[in-house]
Amino acid sequence: MNSLYRMIAIAALVLGALQANAQIEVGGLKAVAGERVTGFIDITDNGDGGSRVPVSIIQGRSNGPTLALVAGTHGYEYAPVIGLQKAARLIDPAMLSGTVIIVHVANMPSFLGRTIYYSPVDGENMNRVYPGKADGTVSERIAHAITTQVIEQADYLVDMHSGDGNEDLRPYIYMPVTGNAEMDAKIKGMALAFGLDHIVIDRRENLPADASRFTDMTGLTRGIPSMTTEAGRVGSTAPELVRKNAEGVMNLLRHLKMLPGNEKPPQPTVWLGDFTVITSPADGIFAARVKGGYTVAKDGVLGELVDYFGEPIATIRAPYAGMVNYVIATPPMRKGEPVAMVSKIVEGE
Ligand SMILES: [Zn+2]
Repeated sequence: MNSLYRMIAIAALVLGALQANAQIEVGGLKAVAGERVTGFIDITDNGDGGSRVPVSIIQGRSNGPTLALVAGTHGYEYAPVIGLQKAARLIDPAMLSGTVIIVHVANMPSFLGRTIYYSPVDGENMNRVYPGKADGTVSERIAHAITTQVIEQADYLVDMHSGDGNEDLRPYIYMPVTGNAEMDAKIKGMALAFGLDHIVIDRRENLPADASRFTDMTGLTRGIPSMTTEAGRVGSTAPELVRKNAEGVMNLLRHLKMLPGNEKPPQPTVWLGDFTVITSPADGIFAARVKGGYTVAKDGVLGELVDYFGEPIATIRAPYAGMVNYVIATPPMRKGEPVAMVSKIVEGE
C-alpha cells in the first residue's frame, strides 16, 4: 500500500469512527458492541405501584440504523411478546449492523393483571395516551418513558400487537400513509418485509407530536417510519402465531440491511382500505357468526347481541362488503366497544 492509499485508508477509518452510533442507553442500560444486554426502565411509584418495563438492547459490531420493537402495549396480546423473545435470541449481535431496542412488555400492569384494552391501574388504553406524561398516570408515565427513551432514539419503529384476549383476528399490518412520499415508501417496504400478507392502508389523520395518541403515530410525528403489526388472537401462543412475529422481525432486519442475507421476496398481499370498527349499541352477551379472515357481504351478519336472559338486542351487520379483520370471540360486550373490524379489499397497490 503506498502512502497516499494508506492516508486515504486511515481517513476512512477515522470518518467511520466519527460516524459510529452514539451509544444507546435505555433506562440506565447501556448498549455493548457485539452483545445483547437486558434490564428494566423503572417507572417511579407515584402512589400507584409504578411499573418496570423489560428491555433488551442488541448492539451490532458494525454501525447501522436503530430499530425499536415494542410488544405488550396491550397486556393480553401474547404472540408478539413470545415472538420477540424468540427474535431476540435469533439476532446474532456479531452479524448485526446497528442497534435493536426491544420493549418486551410495555404494559406490565395490564400483562400481569390479564386485562384487555385497559390498564387495571388507571383504566387507560396505552395505545391512546402517547406521547405520555412524565407526571401522569402509570400508563402515561410508561408511554412517556417509551417515547423519550426508545422511540426518539430509533430510526424505525414497529409496535407489535395481536388480537386482544377477546379478539379473533386474522394477521395484518396497519401501514400508515402520511403523504410524505419518501416516508411512505420506507413504511411500505417495512410492511411488505414483515410479511403478514394482509395490509391495511391506514390513511389516518396526522396528529400533532404532543398529542400523537398511538405508539406508531408517536414515531411518525418524529419523522420515524413506523407501523403497527397485528399477529395473534384471543390470548394464544400457538407456535405458528409466535413464528409469524419472530420471522417478521428477522425479515425486516434483512430488509433494513441490519442483518446479512436476502430478504424473502414479498408474498402476494391482500390490500385493504377504508376500515370500519363496528361498535356495540348496548351492553350484553355477544356471539360471533363469523371469524377473523372471513369475507362478508354488505349487511352480512357479524354476530348477535342478546341480553343477560338471552333475549335478542341486536343483529350486528357488516356496513359494506369486505373482510373481517377481527371479531369479538368471547361473550362480554360493553356499549361502545368494538364488535368487529371490517375493511374493503382494494385492487393492487
Ligand atoms: Zn393491541
